[in-house]
Amino acid sequence: MNTLLKKSVNFNIESNFRGIFLENESLKDKTTFKIGGNATFFAQPKDEKSLLYLLKVAKENSVPVFILGGGSNLVISDDGIDALVISTLDLNFCKLKSDTLSCGAGCTIKSITEFCINNSISGLENFAGLPGSCGGAVFMNARCYDISVSDVLKSVKYIDFSDLTLKEYIFDSKDWDYKKSPFQSGDKFIVEVNFKVRKGRKNDIFDKAESYITDRELKGHFKYPSAGSVFKNNRSFGKPSGKIIDEVGLRGFSVGDAQVAPWHGNFIINTGSATAMDVKKLVEHIQKNVQEKTGFLLECEIIFTDSLSEK
Ligand SMILES: Cc1cc2nc3c(=O)[nH]c(=O)nc-3n(C[C@H](O)[C@H](O)[C@H](O)COP(=O)(O)OP(=O)(O)OC[C@H]3O[C@@H](n4cnc5c(N)ncnc54)[C@H](O)[C@@H]3O)c2cc1C
Repeated sequence: MNTLLKKSVNFNIESNFRGIFLENESLKDKTTFKIGGNATFFAQPKDEKSLLYLLKVAKENSVPVFILGGGSNLVISDDGIDALVISTLDLNFCKLKSDTLSCGAGCTIKSITEFCINNSISGLENFAGLPGSCGGAVFMNARCYDISVSDVLKSVKYIDFSDLTLKEYIFDSKDWDYKKSPFQSGDKFIVEVNFKVRKGRKNDIFDKAESYITDRELKGHFKYPSAGSVFKNNRSFGKPSGKIIDEVGLRGFSVGDAQVAPWHGNFIINTGSATAMDVKKLVEHIQKNVQEKTGFLLECEIIFTDSLSEK
C-alpha cells in the first residue's frame, strides 16, 4: 500500500490550484463510520478549475482517483486508499433559478435543507437528516421516506474521466432504479446537481423537515458512528433486511468493535475502535447466517473501498 508516495508525483499545486492538498492524510474522521487508513494524496479543491487541474495531473501520471463526498456510505480500508482522494466538500454553492435548485456536488444535504427552509423552497424535505453530500446522494440514488433522489432530479453536470470535459446529464427515468444510478459505472465526477423544486410555505417545510430529523434521532441513527443501513431492501424477500436480521437473532452480535445495533438489525455501529476488517467479517457473518436460515442473500449497500478499482 501507499506505493504512489514513492512515485513522488509533483502536482505543482502552488500555481494552479486553490484548496487543500495533503500527502498521507488520515481519512477516518472524514467518514461517519470513523474507520479507515490514510489517503496517499488528499485534495479538497475550492473550485472547478482546480478540480480539473488535479484530474489532469492525475491522469497524466496514472494516479488513480477516488471521490469522497460526506463519507457516510463508506467503509474505508484499514490500509487506506492508495490514490488521489478528492473531497468535494468545498464545491458547495446553492442557488435557485425559478423551479430549479442548483447545488455544487459537495453541498451537504443539511445545508441544502437549511437553504430550502430559509428560502421557502419545497420538494426536498424528505431528505432532511440524510448525512452526506448531494453528489453522494445522486451517486447512491439515496432514498428517504419513500422518495428517491431520482424522483426530484432534473440534470447533473459532471466531468467525464475519459476526456476530462464537462458534460450534462439530463434525467431519464430508464437509467434509474432502487439505489441504482447511472453514475455508479464510476467514470464520472459529479460537480453540480439540479433538483426540481417549487415554492412552499416556510413553516410547513420546516415542520416536515424537522419531523424526519426527529424520526431519525428516535430510531437511533446518530447514537454511534455508522454508515447507515448496511444492506439494501429487496421486495421479493417480503420484509425489510433489518427485520430479517432481527429474526435470525443477530441484533447485538459483534465482531471486534463492530456491532449489529442492538436497536436496529440493519445498522452496524462502531462502538469504539472498529476496523474495516471487523465490519467486513460481521457483514459476511450476517450474509452467511441469513442465507442458511432463509435462503435470501442480502446485498450490501455500504461500499468497501478495498473492493473498488479507483479511476
Ligand atoms: C446515520 C445514517 C443514516 C443514513 N440514512 C440513509 C437513508 O435514509 N437513505 C439512504 O439512501 N442512505 C442513507 N445513509 C447512507 C448515506 O448517507 C447516503 O448513501 C449518502 O447519500 C452518501 O453520500 P456521501 O456524500 O456521504 O457519499 P460518500 O459516502 O462520500 O460516497 C459514496 C459513493 O459515492 C461516490 N461519490 C460521492 N460523491 C461523488 C461525486 N461528486 N461524483 C461521483 N461520485 C461520487 C463515492 O466515490 C462513493 O463511491 C445513511 C447514512 C448514515 C450514516
